Amino acid sequence: MARRKKIYEGKAKVLYEGPEPGTLVQYFKDDATAFNAEKKAVIDGKGVLNNRLSEFFMTGLSNIGIPTHFIKRLNMREQLIRQVEIIPLEVIVRNVAAGSMAKRLGMEEGTPLPRPIVEFSYKDDALGDPLVPEEYIVAFGWASQQDLDDIISLALRVNDWMSGVMFGVGIKLVDFKIEIGRVWDNEFPRLLLADEISPDSCRLWDIETGQKLDKDVFRRDLGDLADAYTEVAKRLGVMPSNVTHATKPTLIN
Ligand code: C5P
Repeated sequence: MARRKKIYEGKAKVLYEGPEPGTLVQYFKDDATAFNAEKKAVIDGKGVLNNRLSEFFMTGLSNIGIPTHFIKRLNMREQLIRQVEIIPLEVIVRNVAAGSMAKRLGMEEGTPLPRPIVEFSYKDDALGDPLVPEEYIVAFGWASQQDLDDIISLALRVNDWMSGVMFGVGIKLVDFKIEIGRVWDNEFPRLLLADEISPDSCRLWDIETGQKLDKDVFRRDLGDLADAYTEVAKRLGVMPSNVTHATKPTLIN
């Protein structure tokens, strides 16, 4: 097979040129990183699980009218997506205090928030993705005020759908991060949900036991990350319950 042109390589994914103009192939790696890549590991099967889970979330969100970059899954590790201009923001929605918010404000992890809170970080690894106020975003031209209003309402719709779906399988959606892309239909810009939605970018706690089923398992050395993601996939019916991440020989690299 001819070598494909690599467009971009990130910490957990690679983007290749797609088969048609305006498309890309998004490849999910097994690499796990935390603390701005200070902690690294390869977790067998993580890419396969995240490819499936992101397909599940993006398809479900698309079915309720949220525009996404997802076109179709191609194989175990790859999906076809629309090429977008990524807005350089991490859009974080929180339902429960955890992670950096709990630390910053001295709150106990697990404290429910009075309402969902949307916050923004500027995507810049060298700066450690600093939290930024909306005023910076508009003043520096990363997004317009109208874009921001649209992004907040999109993020809250994603939160409502995701919270409901996770609640249905006994999981609390504590928080998550999404990224937004812009596409141009003639001269008209449109915003799309881009990147991925997976346990790499969400906090997911079992409602009964509080067990963590997300990347904090890796960040905090709480056990086997692929087991946690497999549990999420099984509960959502994304992977047959008799399939585990141990099926290494069938993985496509
Ligand atoms: O670390 P923090 O508490 O700010 O993370 C909030 C949420 O955003 C978590 O679900 C985390 O996994 C996600 N996140 C992410 N990528 C980052 C930073 C945070 O997916 N670079």
